[in-house]
Amino acid sequence: MGDEVDGNTVLAQALKAQGVEFIFGIIGYPVIELSLALQMADIHYIGMRNEQAACYAAQAMGYLTGNPAGVLCVSGPGVLHTFAGMANAQVNCWPVLVIGGSAPQDHEGIGGFQECNQVELARPYSKYSARPPSIPLIPSHVEKAVRLAKNGRPGAVYLDFPANILSGKVDSSAVPLQYGPTEIPIIYPDPKKIQHAIKVLSEAKRPLVIIGKGAAYARAEDQVNELVNSTNLPFLATPMGKGVVSDTSDKCVQSARTLALLKADVILLLGGRLNWMLHFGRPSRFAPDVKVIQIDISSEELHNSVKSEVAIQSDIKTAVAELAKGLKLQKFVFSRTEEWWTSLTKKCDENRKNVEAMANDHQVPLNYYAVFSNLYKNLPDNCIIVSEGANTMDIGRAVLLNKRPRHRLDAGTFGTMGVGPGFAIAAALYCRHYEPTKKVICVEGDSAFGFSGMEIETMVRYRLPIIVVVVNNSGIYTGMDHEVFEEIQNSGEITKVTPPGCLTSATRYDQMMALFGRTGFFVQTIPELESATKQALEIHEGPTIINVLINRTADRKPQAFNWLTESKL
Ligand code: ADP
Ligand code: MG
Repeated sequence: MGDEVDGNTVLAQALKAQGVEFIFGIIGYPVIELSLALQMADIHYIGMRNEQAACYAAQAMGYLTGNPAGVLCVSGPGVLHTFAGMANAQVNCWPVLVIGGSAPQDHEGIGGFQECNQVELARPYSKYSARPPSIPLIPSHVEKAVRLAKNGRPGAVYLDFPANILSGKVDSSAVPLQYGPTEIPIIYPDPKKIQHAIKVLSEAKRPLVIIGKGAAYARAEDQVNELVNSTNLPFLATPMGKGVVSDTSDKCVQSARTLALLKADVILLLGGRLNWMLHFGRPSRFAPDVKVIQIDISSEELHNSVKSEVAIQSDIKTAVAELAKGLKLQKFVFSRTEEWWTSLTKKCDENRKNVEAMANDHQVPLNYYAVFSNLYKNLPDNCIIVSEGANTMDIGRAVLLNKRPRHRLDAGTFGTMGVGPGFAIAAALYCRHYEPTKKVICVEGDSAFGFSGMEIETMVRYRLPIIVVVVNNSGIYTGMDHEVFEEIQNSGEITKVTPPGCLTSATRYDQMMALFGRTGFFVQTIPELESATKQALEIHEGPTIINVLINRTADRKPQAFNWLTESKL
């Protein structure tokens, strides 16, 4: 006979044994003791203000480290609040493990406190959703959940723990030792497919490499850089694929994105999906006869939306290394003097000039381009940039360049608003533990910031030096000048006349810092922004907010295509 052990301890130790290092959550019945058991098991526990933000933080940690982090939440509403996060992780293909408390089993079916059919409800948002039926089975469920979160195409997993399982006790000899964590298997490409890809690429007149966030997740930066640099192929990155190869590379044709997609005859797609973000790979945004060479870890993803000329199920690292080796053997280099390069370079130069003109326009109230280009000028090269909001994110993406992989976190494939503060918290913890010299900048639209703004308190409590920049146009998409807004609100019944997209004008988000006896920065001009950024970078303990009031009707530069509606399906 050994000692007695409770479910909380078994669960905490099982998580630690599977390599889970960080758990984000909110405590309450029935997971209070569990949170303490986690800390006893030497796991970092970060108390958040909403389970949704906790789930965003955990999945960002999963993306940044390649290792799943956990979410701890109470039964019923607590679990339901994580679903936006689980769906976001699932759609982004990021690992995350959600651990939900649930009503004791002897209260089930008779109206237990926060009783909820959590396992079934979590299923559509996860790769695996289960309830360990006994304390001795907890370790094997945890092993399976962690393995499923990270192997194959990564995603969300859910484990459910009734109160009686958590607080129940068994003899410790009844709990079997569990193996783990197991390694993620490396998938190698079919050599025949690699040869076919090499042939198609070397015959291309207008080749283009597209780097997706799968390449970033795969940590394939060395291989992808080698490929692009040795072949001189032009490349584009998706929002979170940015930085796998530096945005400042002379092979980057981001500024000619529309033209590059439209005219390419061969596309090498590395860990990206031909979904709305890449206009489905179809006309009118792509040539009808474009040949796609697709590399993805998920065989189910191959041929999605358009039939690929060459479809390779593989890890990006191994496939790209083979491709680069094969192309090198053939001495394949795509010459700068090719007409394709000339037209791309010309387009890039034109677009850059347009953006520069707007960036140099420092007229007050400021426009987005002026704000972002000044911010970019003053930020250290290696900072992690978190960004969300409509224009804030879209324009910021073009101006705030990324030189390193996994240094941009944004609303992602699911277009989720509210992710910013959670992502920034994970990024700052990641930096503290693994790369302490780095800074985290969280660039938020004022509307986006509202979703999870209270996480500022979490940042203060854990002394995370995050610079939150609120790009404030007093509204969703656009806002209104104060006087006009007031006039409208006074013109009739307030809920019938207030424009649905307007927020209170010129809100002083910076003054949220006063809640903690600190001061933020209120910025209306470029010199004020410059000075605020420099001072904020000197703050090494706790967050700060730079509230930048911009033109309420500032917008993107004119676009050739509307962002969503132009694909002919
Ligand atoms: P983006 O939004 O950048 O286009 P997506 O999230 O649409 O990227 O696509 C990422 C793709 O990368 C997914 O289809 C996923 O299966 C794939 N992926 C994830 N990890 C790896 C890996 N290690 N090797 C290859 N592909 C991967
Ligand atoms: Mg706004």
